[in-house]
Amino acid sequence: MPNVKNIVIVGSGPAGHTAAIYAARANLNPFMFEGYTMGGSAGGQLTTTTDVENYPGFPDGVNGPELMQLFRKQSERFGTEMVQEDVTAADFSQRPFVLKSENREVRAHAVIISTGATAKRMGVPNEEKMWNNGMSACAVCDGALPMFRNQPLMVIGGGDTAVEEATYLTKFGSMVYMVHRRDQLRASKIMQERAIKNPKLEIIWDTVLEDAVGEDYLTGARLKNVKTNAVREMKVAGLFYAIGHTPNTLIFNGQLDIDAAGYIKLKLGTQETNIDGVFAAGDVHDHKYRQAVTAAGTGCAASLEAERWLAEKGLIG
Ligand code: NDP
Repeated sequence: MPNVKNIVIVGSGPAGHTAAIYAARANLNPFMFEGYTMGGSAGGQLTTTTDVENYPGFPDGVNGPELMQLFRKQSERFGTEMVQEDVTAADFSQRPFVLKSENREVRAHAVIISTGATAKRMGVPNEEKMWNNGMSACAVCDGALPMFRNQPLMVIGGGDTAVEEATYLTKFGSMVYMVHRRDQLRASKIMQERAIKNPKLEIIWDTVLEDAVGEDYLTGARLKNVKTNAVREMKVAGLFYAIGHTPNTLIFNGQLDIDAAGYIKLKLGTQETNIDGVFAAGDVHDHKYRQAVTAAGTGCAASLEAERWLAEKGLIG
């Protein structure tokens, strides 16, 4: 069939670009909708961080946006066709599948969804100013930076991520405060025990963040107790949101099996969705690890699975 792409990749984070590199090197001429608003910007969440120190191969660390430029360059080198457009509608009920953006309609035998997830933010008044200047939504990405060493740090949230990130931060900070809006954690029992036992972790109950405090860099947090309405300011050098993520799956709703939190469900041990020929990779299905390197790994797996699927079906154009 003319004008049908072998593989269309939706999303341009580590998962999408790794999928593209593998597909392009397999001569599948992949086409990528890079997206530009759905995941924050083309390149995904790494474009909103500064130093990335845990991506293997960069012993001195690498700047997040720079790393994504390198991913993109590698996709381009092997011939991935890319457009910086958001997919606005997808139709998986017809074959080849149909994907639409504002400017075009593309047909594809196979699709890899790597639209990522967006960390939720609270939108406190000083948030924009303090973002990456002491505020972050990923302790695992940013927590080890020198500015946080031996300083008091704060995590907002009461779920598994909050406990995990607060625990991780205790390795670096002098003390870690976990601020939770209720008097009970949402985190699993085992994680709760871990939090309570940790002498460097203190939970501040029934409390919400009112604002981040600081001029050029964060110096503190203004908190309000929701039971007493008492407001107080605490000195902290780092403020980390861990209030959940929103997977970017809205445009696929109703067509793909998606769990209660919005993540794409996969067939066990594969990158296959419930629709034959539609694969997913990266944070759009993974709420457990959420790392650039795991996203890249699943991008590779999705691409290899898509390649085998296309070959089995005799669909490679
Ligand atoms: P969750 O949705 O489970 O928890 C979010 C937390 O943030 C809740 O405590 C919630 O409070 C709080 N919160 C949400 N919005 C606000 C707000 N606007 N202001 C203040 N607090 C807010 O998200 P997680 O990222 O923690 O976990 C997502 C999934 O991933 C879960 O299924 C979890 O089990 C899993 N996970 C598992 C891990 C593991 O097994 N090691 C590690 C990390 C995640 P409230 O409780 O009041 O709603």
